[in-house]
Amino acid sequence: MGVWLEGRALAEKIKQEVKEEVEHFREKTNQVPGLIGILVGENKSSQIYLRSKEKASQGLGIASQILTLPANTEARALKARIAELNQQEDVDGILVQLPLPGHLKAHDIICAISPEKDVDGFHPFNLGSLLANEEGLKPCTPMGIIELLRYNRVPLEGKEVVVIGRSLIVGKPLAAMMTNENATVTICHSRTKDLAAVAARADILVAAMGKPAFVKPEFVKESAVVIDVGINQLADAARVRDLFGEDEKREKDLAEKGYTVVGDVDPRAVERAAAMTPVPGGVGLLTVAMLMKNTLEAFKRRRRFEP
Ligand code: NDP
Repeated sequence: MGVWLEGRALAEKIKQEVKEEVEHFREKTNQVPGLIGILVGENKSSQIYLRSKEKASQGLGIASQILTLPANTEARALKARIAELNQQEDVDGILVQLPLPGHLKAHDIICAISPEKDVDGFHPFNLGSLLANEEGLKPCTPMGIIELLRYNRVPLEGKEVVVIGRSLIVGKPLAAMMTNENATVTICHSRTKDLAAVAARADILVAAMGKPAFVKPEFVKESAVVIDVGINQLADAARVRDLFGEDEKREKDLAEKGYTVVGDVDPRAVERAAAMTPVPGGVGLLTVAMLMKNTLEAFKRRRRFEP
């Protein structure tokens, strides 16, 4: 039976360090980092995600604000607003909450953000720097995964890593980071043949697919480390009971919200693994902490502050 790799302690440690540094700069320079989150439309999940980012940053002394624009905002108007924020001296970080309404192309909009303010690390300039293993703002979820592995002393050098999922937000940048850490990386996706066999080669298996409990225990090599990135809402009570047994917290979720949040990995995989991240309570907590770290980083670089 493996151990659960909880994200909370590390996330709190990172946020505390950011808070202390923000306070230090505030005392020394009377300036604090500024973060703007842009929300286009009224997607409920996006509102919740963005509010939690705003709340977290305010708790650390970061000046944070949400800019809400109507769902029918044209690309040209959105890019013009971003151009203004690029020029605004007290704004260090700009993030556009994804997904965007159908008429807007994420790539097109993200390209409008100044790379030095791109705290999500999705701008092609920053992704290119990541591929080149050079300095730059890096995507928060993959960075959180690397930090979590480091914190738990899981070495990457020479290890077989299998990443399931090839999105620009998680899978691809994570594969680049793991490669930079000298791991041997395989990326899988929906056209991969015999996914279970490929996954079973992994010393470190990462699932970032958006498919509830898709990765079964038999996909996991004995004593592998499993990172479950998935955040999925599961409403099927019988399925939840099958996966988690009698679980008071999940029963309560189902009764109160009509769903519970589950990962991409069948939780029973922990029995074969050496360690596995829980959902919720694992990688998700680190994503926000890494956003805070990126915002501080952008602030220091832009305003040329030394620690
Ligand atoms: P995407 O939908 O953009 O990408 C999913 C990837 O999984 C695709 O590459 C897809 O392949 C692959 N995939 C889907 N089905 C299969 C399958 N049956 N076999 C193999 N591969 C498959 O998702 P994201 O990367 O944005 O997110 C993935 C998950 O991570 C989601 O649950 C999301 O909510 C969660 N997430 C969590 C975060 C956190 O903070 N913990 C942050 C961001 C996301 P193909 O390319 O061929 O379609």
